[in-house]
Amino acid sequence: MEPSPEPSEHKEEEDEEWEVESYDEPDEFELLEPIEKLDYEQELSSAPFQVEHHGVLQNGLTYYVKKNSIPKDIILVNLIVKAGAVCEEENERGVAHIIEHLVLEGYGYTNSDATEYLKAFKHQCGAHQQAKTYWDHTSYNFSVTNTEDLRKALALTAAISRELVVTSDELEKEKLIVIDELWHGSQIVEKQHSRIFSAQLYQGTKYAEPLGGTEKNVRDLSVDIVKGFYLKWYVPNNMAVIVVGDVTETQIARLRVHGIEENELSEGRVYWLRIAGAEYRNRLDHSSEELQNNYTRHFNYRECDLCPKLQAQLIVALTKSINLEKMKSFCELQCKASNLSVIILQSKNFVTQEDMKGSLQKITDLEKEGSLAQWSDEEVEGSNNLILEMEPESG
Ligand SMILES: [Zn+2]
Repeated sequence: MEPSPEPSEHKEEEDEEWEVESYDEPDEFELLEPIEKLDYEQELSSAPFQVEHHGVLQNGLTYYVKKNSIPKDIILVNLIVKAGAVCEEENERGVAHIIEHLVLEGYGYTNSDATEYLKAFKHQCGAHQQAKTYWDHTSYNFSVTNTEDLRKALALTAAISRELVVTSDELEKEKLIVIDELWHGSQIVEKQHSRIFSAQLYQGTKYAEPLGGTEKNVRDLSVDIVKGFYLKWYVPNNMAVIVVGDVTETQIARLRVHGIEENELSEGRVYWLRIAGAEYRNRLDHSSEELQNNYTRHFNYRECDLCPKLQAQLIVALTKSINLEKMKSFCELQCKASNLSVIILQSKNFVTQEDMKGSLQKITDLEKEGSLAQWSDEEVEGSNNLILEMEPESG
């Protein structure tokens, strides 16, 4: 795009930026060889790129291990079970999700190994676990910061894949938690949208059904159904363990012992200033979406939308003024359990399938009438007026 004519001071800045960003020599991207020279047989071999250890154990379990230092000092352990909501038969709907709960968080889940390991995790600030059921797989994720926790996470993945012990009392208790979760999910407008969208788009397939089933589906599940699904799908040749991360230093433990150190703080300052600098240099390149988000935050939360120059000056001054003492007293002041809160946001307007059909119909009608103008730079102003004239509706 041609730079638009602007006052001279402004133009100079623009020119400087272009100079910094332009390349004198062709870089490695521009020097890529044409694809015709590739040896497809070799390039499309089955192992993922640069994975260090990858294979299948004798029992059928697939594994991937890769050392990686971004982010530093974090190791991710992931158990993937290739079974999700689409594997459920009609009488099994919701079972994949409830098994994910029973395996990890179930009240009274009696697999002593798993409960023990989880208890150990919950008391350490460095380790986190979470699980999620998808349409075609279920994922158990652990994030650890040292080799001791890594061992525990691996042992836990083994426990998950070995056995599921569940009584009908335990199942009934877990159903209530899952039903509660389904209800909360149903209150989120984005989820309502995607559910309605999926119901239309994937009509006649299992993808059109609500993920996790309905309240009735969950209530109808029995111990036999749960166990049957687990035994059918939680088998080694249907699972993979993925370990990716950095094992060199135990950052969290060091923080606990020594607190934040001077060199760490100065690295943090440099990082902040770099981000602020990049933001300032690109201040004229905001996309419409970014601007729209700014104005939304301004409206919703009365968030300031300062002039970029003042904003940058403030960031520089404030970042430089942060010292260890201030950090320490701030942490002491803020890091208390009584200072934590949970915020749940929801819209009061519900969107129904009828609403969505109505909106689509309106657009179709406009199209048929031929009253949808073609997009062009000159007409943008006019089409904005058209939008503003339409009554706002829920959703
Ligand atoms: Zn859940």
